[in-house]
Amino acid sequence: MTTTSARRLVLGNWKLNGSFAANRQLLSALRSGWGASSSSAQCDVGVCVPFPYLSQAESALSGSDIAWGAQDVSAHDSGAYTGEVSATMLKEFGCRYALVGHSERRAYHAESSGTVAQKAAAALAAGLTPVVCVGETLDEREAGHVQDVIAAQLQPVLALGTDAVRRVVVAYEPVWAIGTGKTASPEQAQDVHAAIRALLSGVDAASVRILYGGSVKGNNAETLFAMPDIDGGLIGGAALIADEFLRIAEAGALPRSI
Ligand code: PEP
Repeated sequence: MTTTSARRLVLGNWKLNGSFAANRQLLSALRSGWGASSSSAQCDVGVCVPFPYLSQAESALSGSDIAWGAQDVSAHDSGAYTGEVSATMLKEFGCRYALVGHSERRAYHAESSGTVAQKAAAALAAGLTPVVCVGETLDEREAGHVQDVIAAQLQPVLALGTDAVRRVVVAYEPVWAIGTGKTASPEQAQDVHAAIRALLSGVDAASVRILYGGSVKGNNAETLFAMPDIDGGLIGGAALIADEFLRIAEAGALPRSI
């Protein structure tokens, strides 16, 4: 069985939150907290902020060990696509990451898995790392369809080819765990992560990072990240509280037990 060899990544998803004043405080606390931590060399850390605050994130985090990125990206590079933001534009703001296919985009903006794969391809073409989010609803879990749902969501991304797949990050985020306080158990998450890694056949699957997301907090990150196929986390609510996010990042820096 393939297990991971990847360095962990802890990535914040601010969602539709923030203001210049609040961001200033949060970014400054993250920069100084992570900069002072001896763990910063052991775990990659980043924040995905709303588009209008990319410039602020770039100014606040340039030269630090914290990367930044966007929460979505257009599948198109330019043209008549009102309201969209291209990967090339994100690159101009120094972004490293772009989330694609977050369940809130799939649910509220009817994004299909095909569109999500196009967005991932656009991000890769501009030199960004797409974080491809997948996850089942509670009904799908209770019906025993978890692995089928995840496989179907990932299939168009896998069809981009091995060169693309080895450069993506996958985030497993069970919909029922996002923002609910109901975290998947480490064993539930591990089962799905192992299944995702098995789908990545043909690439160096051990080096593809598979993050867990869904109510990760400072007090549960360590047990989740201790699982062999969990390579870090995608963090929503807790990413808005500097101490909490830094505690999760510290858990990401702990040595792997395997
Ligand atoms: C998310 O939005 O990706 C997420 C995981 O949110 P939360 O941590 O709040 O559940």
